[in-house]
Amino acid sequence: MPEDNPAQDPAAVSMLTAIMRCVAGRCPKCGEGKLLASFIKPVANCAVCGEALGNIRADDGPPWLTILIVGHILLPIIFTVGPHSTWPQWLSMTVWVSAALILMLLVLPRAKGFFIGVIWKNRQKIARS
Ligand SMILES: [Zn+2]
Repeated sequence: MPEDNPAQDPAAVSMLTAIMRCVAGRCPKCGEGKLLASFIKPVANCAVCGEALGNIRADDGPPWLTILIVGHILLPIIFTVGPHSTWPQWLSMTVWVSAALILMLLVLPRAKGFFIGVIWKNRQKIARS
């Protein structure tokens, strides 16, 4: 996104831009370097702009947000479909647990990115004040 990284000035990056970049798995500062080195482990520094990202601790935020999102997607479906299902119990358990695991694997890295984006932007604000 070259239109919003002139000289990669962190002050020019809005909170929304930082969050969107991190949710997409990119560095909040430049929007180009990778944010995560592995599943949910952030890189120590951005490979493109050198921004320190490895020291941002999201702690329990990403799992909390993941449970919130996955629960709100799956539980209404399970409670709607479940009582009318003719599936045997083993099939229901396999399908719903698999769906929960797949959704968790999709949402968790993005939730991690969300929190890293918020924390990174707040640190920029604190550093300037
Ligand atoms: Zn960067």
